[in-house]
Amino acid sequence: MRRPFIAGNWKMHGSRTENAELIEGLLLGMPAEASVEVAVCPPFVYLWEAARLLKSSSIALGAQSTCAEAVGAFTGEVSAAMLKDVGCQYVIVGHSERRALYKEDDALVARKFLAARAQDLTPILCVGETLEEREQGLTDQVVSRQLNAVLDVAGVAAMGTAVIAYEPVWAIGTGKNATPQQAQEVHAHIRAEVGARDANIAAGVRILYGGSVKAANAREIFSMPDVDGGLIGGASLAADEFLKICAAA
Ligand code: PGA
Repeated sequence: MRRPFIAGNWKMHGSRTENAELIEGLLLGMPAEASVEVAVCPPFVYLWEAARLLKSSSIALGAQSTCAEAVGAFTGEVSAAMLKDVGCQYVIVGHSERRALYKEDDALVARKFLAARAQDLTPILCVGETLEEREQGLTDQVVSRQLNAVLDVAGVAAMGTAVIAYEPVWAIGTGKNATPQQAQEVHAHIRAEVGARDANIAAGVRILYGGSVKAANAREIFSMPDVDGGLIGGASLAADEFLKICAAA
């Protein structure tokens, strides 16, 4: 049984005041015995304070990226050990915005995945195709390449304690979500790709869908057999909306 997981990717949004209000809203509305696992991923500078506000709650903390190196002279970077130190349990790696805007390639994403695992952080590994790639029929190929780049260096066993997020680039922040069927097809492909290396790990790994999930479409998407929850961007910034999405899982 895979426990549903909903992670809020706040991206570069928020302020100390807004974050405190958002977290307060989440804490007020989150049922004590939720069957779904929930995490929020604020920007680096707010992690420490978010950890304090979330203390002894059921909501976990995640970061949005990490440095690939363990320690050292890397100006502007934040290490996995630091994320662990301030209370993170999760870290998003390979988000398409990092890949496209900051030129993170498959090899760097794999190193970030390893850096996270080395600190016992659970990586949320994002994969997904662009619209152009989908139109050319390359979706499975692109997703396999992104996934195998990590599996090749980290080994399939590492995927047993990771989370995968399928995020079609054309669906992110566009209001145009993948249909439940489109999501299911790619999720099944991802599970099969992991399964080609280890069937048990494939059966257990959680695969989230991300890309314009909102309260209105969440239930339908999450009802697909290989969709184990969501990575939520825009809709994670309003407590009511995010709580509804959590309830839909
Ligand atoms: P969105 O973003 O929900 O705003 O589409 C999802 C993501 O990029 O993780």
